[in-house]
Amino acid sequence: PEPCDTEECLTLLARLLEVRNATIDPCEDFYGYACGNWEANHLRTETMESSNVFDVLLEENQLILKRLLEVPQLRVEGSAKGKAIQFYHSCMDTQQIEAEGAQPLKELINQVGGWNFTGPGKQTDFNQTLQTLMGKYNTFPFFRAYVGPSSSDPSTNIIQIDHPEFEMPPESDYNEKANYPEVVRVYFSYLMKLGTLLGGPQNVTSTVISFALSFISNLQKEVTPLQERQERRMLFYHTTIRELQEKAPTIDWLSCLQAAFHPVQLNISQPIAVHDMDYLKGMSRLIEKWQKGRVLQIYMILCLVGNLSPALDSRFQDARRELFEKLHGKTGESGMVLAHRWRKCLSDTSTFFEPVLAEMIVQEIFPQETKELAEKMFSLVRDALHSRLDQVEWMDEQTRQEAKDKACVEIGYPDSILQTAEMDQEFQDLEIHDNTFLLNVVACLKAVRENFSLRLLQPHLQDNWEVFPWSVHSYYSMRRHTVVFPAGMFRSPFFHAEFPSAVNFGAMGVIMAHELLHAIYDYVVPESCPRCNRDALVQGTDCLVEQYERYSLQGLRINGTFTLLENAADTGGLAIAYQAYKNWLKKHKQERNLPRSGLSHHQLFYISFANVMNTLLIFPERLRAFLHRDPHSPPPLRVRGPLSNSQDFARHFHCSSTTPMNPAFKCHIW
Ligand SMILES: [Zn+2]
Repeated sequence: PEPCDTEECLTLLARLLEVRNATIDPCEDFYGYACGNWEANHLRTETMESSNVFDVLLEENQLILKRLLEVPQLRVEGSAKGKAIQFYHSCMDTQQIEAEGAQPLKELINQVGGWNFTGPGKQTDFNQTLQTLMGKYNTFPFFRAYVGPSSSDPSTNIIQIDHPEFEMPPESDYNEKANYPEVVRVYFSYLMKLGTLLGGPQNVTSTVISFALSFISNLQKEVTPLQERQERRMLFYHTTIRELQEKAPTIDWLSCLQAAFHPVQLNISQPIAVHDMDYLKGMSRLIEKWQKGRVLQIYMILCLVGNLSPALDSRFQDARRELFEKLHGKTGESGMVLAHRWRKCLSDTSTFFEPVLAEMIVQEIFPQETKELAEKMFSLVRDALHSRLDQVEWMDEQTRQEAKDKACVEIGYPDSILQTAEMDQEFQDLEIHDNTFLLNVVACLKAVRENFSLRLLQPHLQDNWEVFPWSVHSYYSMRRHTVVFPAGMFRSPFFHAEFPSAVNFGAMGVIMAHELLHAIYDYVVPESCPRCNRDALVQGTDCLVEQYERYSLQGLRINGTFTLLENAADTGGLAIAYQAYKNWLKKHKQERNLPRSGLSHHQLFYISFANVMNTLLIFPERLRAFLHRDPHSPPPLRVRGPLSNSQDFARHFHCSSTTPMNPAFKCHIW
């Protein structure tokens, strides 16, 4: 093979040599050999929170978006891209945000009737305020109403109603009830701080907020636990606005839902799917009971503040950060409050302008040639899977055919994002201004809500993705029978047009095969494939369970049953991707190699496979948490397990049958 000496190859080579620990024998411990120096290098050079190769790449993708958004502002009238950039800039303008302080939110609060801290004050119509909150500010204090796929026909959309998302964690989240009063106290002092920042007098605020808290916990007690709702088949209860009005009469349902789903026209026969009717009835009774005082008004304002205060100055951010840390501890992975301003602004901009940002980054990192190359690789992987299925002993012919037709694929991005004219149209009514981040957020909330409402009139959009196109996270969507690989993954070290194909097949190819196997994983689950040969299948699954239960990492054991489906997809994915690579070699005859690496291209395939698994697991608490919640095996074993099951690997690394990486017993399902 010819050596590849392009910049990408040389960078890859340097990386590979840097993370490799050549003093370790690949037949003894392949993960240690291929990735042994990664942890040390990573800890020395990186200060960020990322702990594996996927996170490092995501961080790079986010930095690219940051750069694209930080260009001097475009003044292209009406363009969605111009608005996204302007929005990001208004978020980054902290000088302006600090100067305005709480004033913009105070004005909004007055517009919806004010806090009413000190008495009846201005009489407000409860249902009127609720309509304004839902329609104008996308704030849902008493119940959540949204558009989603219908259960009976997932290609159509229906209005769905569920309990609201509470900022205060409910008591049912806590096992040791003894801790719960402390949670309430922390949340109380957070609300007190907000109340004071927004102009409430200390002594009055504290009484009013105690009442509001008591209302919230009563409301939370009306929620039916999910498991009970499943058992009692309460999810997707089909009803109409007319029936809601009878069962939960304190809400003016038609007006409220009309406000929430404007510009779509509703009438009292409108079909609705309710997920917890008992909650709605209980909620209505509570509203009735509390209607006289000012508690409902205060509670609604608190929800509005909860929704909008992230757009205010640093005092509000600090209060939120403190709340988060007290409730969840200083985890370092702060989901709610982001440490760097640009991260918060990128995250907000992504929420409101996802397709715009997707288009921007795709133009930057995912040219058409890359997409075509990725699609070619995918079809080779799929072909290899199909020939593998023909050899699987436990499947009958009919199941085989079914399995082959199981999965569609989407690579890179949803097609709709490249239609910029339509995108401009979609954001046409949205007005973004300089110098007023809060009002920009309000305008975006309304626009997003209206765009969601319009989905009621359309068939369920087939290209709705669960991840951003710049993320580094592939998945299988059961609902859509589709495997999805976002553009953000098709970058070094996972994939590059300039790389030797061995590298691409070893990394992305294995990931593709793994996801494809998830699409047909249900055949493995007991009882789900009556025509299959259960005995042959159980032999395979038992073998895998025992194999992984023999492993331990830092003295901790693996649960072979809990991780079985992932382990099966890992072992099968590696074998299928390698077969696809061999088919590619047969067709192309010429492969490039990395110069001076001393590796054959077959060896390179396996090194590349191991290299995307680099991860930081040296902290025992982190490993323990990982074993507890993640259905994957920890990365060192995701390398060891599949390679130990591979005859080809042992051959290419000349591992004798007495070495740990080449045990006599090989397991596989696929
Ligand atoms: Zn998986």
